[in-house]
Amino acid sequence: MAKVVTRFAPSPTGYLHIGGARTALFNWLFARHNNGTFILRIENTDTQRSTQEYTQSILEALTWLGLNWDEGPYFQTDRLDIYRDFARKLYESGWAYYCECDPEDVERRRREAQKAGLKPRYDRRCRDKGLDPGPGRALRFRCPESGSTVLHDIVKGPIVFDNSELDDLVLIRRDGMPTYNFTVVVDDITMGITHVIRGDDHVNNTPKQILLYHALGAPLPVFAHVPMILGPDRTRLSKRHGATSVLAYRDMGYLPEAIVNYLARLGWSHGDQEIFSREELIEKFSLENIGTSASVFDIEKLRWLNGHY
Ligand code: GLU
Repeated sequence: MAKVVTRFAPSPTGYLHIGGARTALFNWLFARHNNGTFILRIENTDTQRSTQEYTQSILEALTWLGLNWDEGPYFQTDRLDIYRDFARKLYESGWAYYCECDPEDVERRRREAQKAGLKPRYDRRCRDKGLDPGPGRALRFRCPESGSTVLHDIVKGPIVFDNSELDDLVLIRRDGMPTYNFTVVVDDITMGITHVIRGDDHVNNTPKQILLYHALGAPLPVFAHVPMILGPDRTRLSKRHGATSVLAYRDMGYLPEAIVNYLARLGWSHGDQEIFSREELIEKFSLENIGTSASVFDIEKLRWLNGHY
């Protein structure tokens, strides 16, 4: 196998929470298990919601957990020229086109389509206009109109998406900022990421990303989408369930080893074993042992584990 390269790619729009920490841990463990490289990338193109404070606190939480990165942190806002180069390639090869539609109009037309029982997506009005680049124009991906895109996910198995359900997604917004699905693909390609391990809230983004890999002629990484973490009431873990920020657990006196052990066991198993040293986790971790159903966050279990360290 080629050298394993994983990444953790948080958006600094909030503190590092339990779910994000588990994603970081799985990427770190998989890289360490394979003597690979673990990259930290800060996805801050949402400049309205990203802050320095969140970035710092994410770095601090990862450091406290002992999840050291080999490269980075890379900041997407330092890479805008790279995204523009890739955007130009897609435009010049016919995979992308400029769109002059007003986003509010697009939204209104999308809603009308939905009401009329049609697909609630951009109506592709500018697709064949042959518009040149210009101020106030967005760059959209020309999604194939037929066929299907298959995500071969290590955790979930194959998932088939009908291309006709997909939108002509915006790659570069009217204000010149690239969008998430585009930057993530450009970064994962240029950083040589071999395994994308992330929360399964990104499953529906993946066919769009796979089509971009194809359009750019790049090989696909392995995808592993990890089921989400639920609160005791089986709804998605959130502030309603108490503290979700990792640093809040530090401040309450929890030990990083207990948190790491607990997070590793949230969605990954190795027989009945509950207590693992970090070295054991590195030695035993595999993507095949990630569970297929959501896990429930249980503070009592975390307390119990904490008592063992
Ligand atoms: N920045 C994305 C997030 O925080 C992660 C993207 C990814 O892992 O592909 O949800």
